[in-house]
Amino acid sequence: MQQHDKLFTPGPVEVSAKTLAAFARPMIGHRGEDFKNLYRDIHPKLQTLFGTKQPVFLSTSSAWGVMEGAIRNVVRQNVLCCMCGAFSDKWLDVARRCGKNAEPLQVEWGKHIDAKDVDLALSSGKFDAVTLIHNETSTGVMNPLPEICATLAKYPDVALILDTVSSFSAVKIDMDELGIDVMLTGSQKALALPPGFSLFSVSEKAFARAEKIDNRGYYFDFLEFKKQQANWMTPTTPSIGHIYALQSKLEEIFEEGIDARLDRHEKTNALVHDWVRSRGFDFFAEEGFRSKTLTCVKNNRGIDVVDLVKRLRERHHIVIDPGYGKLKGKTFRLSNMGDETEETVSHLLACLDDVLK
Ligand SMILES: *Cc1c(COP(=O)(O)O)cnc(C)c1O
Repeated sequence: MQQHDKLFTPGPVEVSAKTLAAFARPMIGHRGEDFKNLYRDIHPKLQTLFGTKQPVFLSTSSAWGVMEGAIRNVVRQNVLCCMCGAFSDKWLDVARRCGKNAEPLQVEWGKHIDAKDVDLALSSGKFDAVTLIHNETSTGVMNPLPEICATLAKYPDVALILDTVSSFSAVKIDMDELGIDVMLTGSQKALALPPGFSLFSVSEKAFARAEKIDNRGYYFDFLEFKKQQANWMTPTTPSIGHIYALQSKLEEIFEEGIDARLDRHEKTNALVHDWVRSRGFDFFAEEGFRSKTLTCVKNNRGIDVVDLVKRLRERHHIVIDPGYGKLKGKTFRLSNMGDETEETVSHLLACLDDVLK
């Protein structure tokens, strides 16, 4: 691959030469046998990664398309938005723009969503759906999914819409077992594919609900996706390049083995955590709820973060993030998502040491 600045940002992440080669394969028609065979080939692997027997859909949009689609297809009227950072906070606004009554369950950035608070809010009987982000990429918080799902199980008439954009395939999430109604992920983060594509799956309960909801639109109509998937097709012309890249990535994931992949993320994440502690930095996310795929480092040492990012790029051709939105300069984020190994993450940390000294 040509010399370039390597991304250790928590999205988009570095895309390997192998994936880019698959992305650049010659086109095929999306209504022919070649496409159907391609979809057929990747589908069982996707179901395994989602932990579901339900169909898995291919959406030519970034994750927000499916996040908005989930609101339009699954929320009857009142949705509780669990908010703990930039992405989860924005979902409230998106739900309101779709004409739904959305209410916040807001915690301070850096804190997690507590299942007890979800329980309290749902006990009002007011809500028919909940939005939750598993791994809040802006703050580096990973929410306690099993506990929250156990709470949701007490409310069978409430649908759970879950974003796993920055945790999918890096942390185990069993959609069927956990009772998740819509589970979605994007391409450019945990999966290390080029941006502009997403994947999602929908429970029977959510399909049944969608049938009774008007104004689902067309591009993200879940029932349209379901009908087309039954014939191994997508509703509209998909980004074929992304699907080739996905096929290549899935082969890699299953060659490595899912458990080995989870373990690799544990280990690379632990390396970053050790570095943070030993260099006198702190974590932005509270203890016990820290992401396994990225680390949001608190700038308690008062360094010039923008300058750090600049020097890292100039000297080592490595790009990190200087903090999301209002956290810019107060934090910086280091990603261990995608293809990173103990070797590549150790290199990142050595380069950080070099520019910090
Ligand atoms: C990046 C991100 C998104 C948004 O993805 P787009 O590709 O910009 O649509 C949503 N949720 C989480 C958790 C993210 O990290």
